[in-house]
Amino acid sequence: NKFEQLGLNESLLLAIKDLGFENPSEVQEKAIPVLLEQNTDLVALAQTGTGKTAAFGFPLIQKIDAEDRSTQALILSPTRELCLQITNEIKQYSKYVKGLHTVAVYGGASITEQAKDVKRGAQIIVATPGRMQDMINRGFVNIKNINYCILDEADEMLNMGFYDDIVSILSDTPDEKNTWLFSATMPAEVARIAKKFMVSPEEITV
Ligand code: AMP
Repeated sequence: NKFEQLGLNESLLLAIKDLGFENPSEVQEKAIPVLLEQNTDLVALAQTGTGKTAAFGFPLIQKIDAEDRSTQALILSPTRELCLQITNEIKQYSKYVKGLHTVAVYGGASITEQAKDVKRGAQIIVATPGRMQDMINRGFVNIKNINYCILDEADEMLNMGFYDDIVSILSDTPDEKNTWLFSATMPAEVARIAKKFMVSPEEITV
């Protein structure tokens, strides 16, 4: 099993076995060792369906401190569907990690319920940009101490007009965090975000 050679811990390997994943996909093989071994920013050019959620999800789960209930990571994604899908995947991947909580934050559902879920202690928040900005404005979330920020389908988020929200949300996070950006394409707006918020990112293309 090639997953064992990527440096993943026992709880992740157990979950991977349950899911029936036999071998890492290309983006997983390229991203996982880099993200596990280095505190680095990352730009990954990868389409959906390539296994990119696990490519950032596995190293993220391994790096989170599950004994600390504070919010440590923010994953931004373009749509409610994708947000729920990522949340569901992260929950499956982290099923053997005791105390790790992931909460989905998206529009079209009760913001007070989502705020309650976050308040109970969520190390990972998976959010759409508009609702996330709303949660920040109302003081329902604190991302001032996060260590990881993942921008998933960055080109799609920017196509949907979330540039200002993304800039505002990222400006609310600490400079020392690591940012991992995943995008199928690299239009000027995505490059602008990368230039503004990332420091010498590792680059991966699949
Ligand atoms: P994604 O590109 O992250 O949306 O993943 C696409 C689908 O592939 C999801 O349903 C994953 O559960 C699945 N998947 C991810 N990695 C693997 C793998 N290494 N082997 C088999 N299936 C996988």
